[in-house]
Amino acid sequence: MTNTTQKVALVTGASRGIGREIALKLAADGFAVVVNYAGSTELAERVVADIEANGGRALAVQGDIADLPAVERVFRATQDAFERIDVVVNNAGILQMAKLTTDNVGILDRTLATNLRGSWLVMAKAAETLSEGGRIIALSSSVLGKSFPGYGAYIASKAGVEGLVKVLANELRGRGIAVNGVAPGPVATEMFFAGKSEEQIQSIANLAPFERLGQPQEIADVVAFLAGPQGGWVNGQILRVNGGMV
Ligand code: NDP
Repeated sequence: MTNTTQKVALVTGASRGIGREIALKLAADGFAVVVNYAGSTELAERVVADIEANGGRALAVQGDIADLPAVERVFRATQDAFERIDVVVNNAGILQMAKLTTDNVGILDRTLATNLRGSWLVMAKAAETLSEGGRIIALSSSVLGKSFPGYGAYIASKAGVEGLVKVLANELRGRGIAVNGVAPGPVATEMFFAGKSEEQIQSIANLAPFERLGQPQEIADVVAFLAGPQGGWVNGQILRVNGGMV
């Protein structure tokens, strides 16, 4: 069935974690949604099935955001399936802990490839594709405000993303397309839990005055606000969504 009046959102890294909740929330808000992912085909198809079970339209499309031909393929598949793209959420990202040592430069390269080069490619392709009223939203991180040891590569990549958000908002002058960043504090996903002890998890959760981790839905709600009719006057901003952690 074609339905050219329904708005369309592309969410990268939507097979699990925060991206999954963003996809589900945007679908609940009436968007047709493309669920991009890197390797988790089964999980991505499950997100699609959940959206369809609730009467929505969705499609899973594999593609590594660090790879230009793959990004072009993901955008093409979105337009082929749903005929338009209104909202692009670049949520896909990786976190690898590494102290700032010469041995760890490979981790810096891998992190920048996905988080920064990937954001560049997805945001650039979104800028080429979207029309007036479009929204581009990129995920950063509130950990920029804490500068914890071991987060150097990740923080460098997300600081870059925040820079790109502001520059692209200016480069799109006159086009009526808003570009914003959302910077969560610690959120209960695989990325956050990986490699941490119970004690570490609790002490990080206690950093916020609310003394708990964020839930993926709480980030999805803010992304949906920026993507929706009430978020249209927010542009070139980074929204920190962290329970008051920084
Ligand atoms: P998860 O590790 O739970 O999920 C990551 C998602 O990104 C998966 O869908 C994964 O796909 C996808 N992905 C990873 N690399 C690529 C790639 N190269 N191309 C396409 N997709 C890719 O992460 P979170 O949900 O926790 O994080 C989502 C975003 O939020 C990230 O940008 C992260 O930096 C940011 N963030 C997270 C915080 C947290 O505490 N969780 C805090 C602050 C920011 P697949 O399943 O196929 O591997």
